[in-house]
Amino acid sequence: MTCPICRKDSDPKYRPFCSRRCADIDLGRWLTGAYVIPGDAGEEEDRAPRRPDEEPLH
Ligand SMILES: [Zn+2]
Repeated sequence: MTCPICRKDSDPKYRPFCSRRCADIDLGRWLTGAYVIPGDAGEEEDRAPRRPDEEPLH
């Protein structure tokens, strides 16, 4: 499995990412997208509340 951000080998601790940095980048993109596209914000908000201890699903 490779990191979807930089395509390096993923780290089991941060999979599917290679590092926390890439996980944060992905999260940042996701959040930014939710803000940039007002029409989709309502749908995204239903999925937004996630427990901090859960691993990112994408
Ligand atoms: Zn990466």
